[in-house]
Amino acid sequence: MPADNGLLTHARQKLRSFGGYTAWKCRMKNTSMQPQFSQELRSAIEERIRRYPALSEAYTDFGEEVRKFNALPIGFDMDTIFFVKPNGEILAWDLPSDEPRPVTSLWLQLVLLRLGAIHFPELIEALPRRPDGAPSCSACGGRGFVDNRSPMGGGSADWPCWPCGTMGWHDGEPLYP
Ligand SMILES: [Zn+2]
Repeated sequence: MPADNGLLTHARQKLRSFGGYTAWKCRMKNTSMQPQFSQELRSAIEERIRRYPALSEAYTDFGEEVRKFNALPIGFDMDTIFFVKPNGEILAWDLPSDEPRPVTSLWLQLVLLRLGAIHFPELIEALPRRPDGAPSCSACGGRGFVDNRSPMGGGSADWPCWPCGTMGWHDGEPLYP
């Protein structure tokens, strides 16, 4: 048995506690910005899924996927269709793949819910309430969107703001600094 005077053990402990700290930081980051799905909202999404496509005039072509994923299409981007499940999980279905993948980016979750609420107003309920003292987002002046138009053409006058994910505020830690 090598005599390491406890140095390796110490180093291992250090590494472990550092890993724990990092995980804790990741869990704590933007906790007040997490979407919340009330029972009422879950029921509303279930109802839209049950009656699809009747209550989904904006996205009517995904009957097979709605049944298979048990999720409601709420947006798209290029070749990706985004769905929300009644429990609040958001899925990205990349054509032509068979299986959707979970959307883990908090920024993208917030943007999809905010824009999805244009066609499904109840999704506004899922967006986080602004805590007392949460600073306004300086990148967009609290508007939630920025002018991203390029002098060369392209871009958008209402591009979702990176630091706040269209909320107009953040909890002191921008989603994208
Ligand atoms: Zn912003």
